[in-house]
Amino acid sequence: MDCIFCKIIKGEIPCAKVYEDDKVFAFLDIEPVNEGHTLVVPKRHHKDLFELPEEFLAHSLAVIKKIAAAVKEAVDADGINIGMNNGAAAGQAVFHAHFHIIPRYTGDKLGEWPRKKYAEGGINAFARKIKDLL
Ligand code: 5GP
Ligand code: ZN
Repeated sequence: MDCIFCKIIKGEIPCAKVYEDDKVFAFLDIEPVNEGHTLVVPKRHHKDLFELPEEFLAHSLAVIKKIAAAVKEAVDADGINIGMNNGAAAGQAVFHAHFHIIPRYTGDKLGEWPRKKYAEGGINAFARKIKDLL
C-alpha cells in the first residue's frame, strides 16, 4: 500500500523518531505548527478514528499523555493541543490515522476556531439527535 506513514514506520522513509512500542510509533511532524509538534501513529494501517480498534485507541491515548508531557518540557511550551483530523473536510491529508501533539505558547497568535451561536432552543435538538445515535 502506498502510505507514507506505513513507510515511515517500516523505516523506508527517514523520520525524527521519539518513541516506539509494539502498537504505536511517534515522530516529529516535518512541517510543525510549532517546533516539537509530534505525530503519534498507531502502527497498523487504519485510515481514521472510526476504523481504529479500541485497543489502539486506548493505548494511543496513554502514550499521547506521556509524550505530550515530554514535548511540553522539551520546548518549554505554555500549553499543548491534542488533535486529530478525520476526513478531508476536517483537514486530514494523510489517511493513516494519527494524533497531533502541538506545543502552544501564550500569545502565539495561531488563533482559535471561529464560533457560532445556536438558534433559540436549537442546542437541545442537536443533543437529542446525537444521543439517539449513541
Ligand atoms: P493531517 O493533515 O493528515 O492531520 O496531518 C498530516 C501531517 O503529516 C502534516 O502535519 C504533515 O506536515 C505531516 N507529514 C506529511 N508527510 C510527512 C513526512 O514525510 N514526514 C513527517 N515527519 N511528517 C509528514
Ligand atoms: Zn499506513
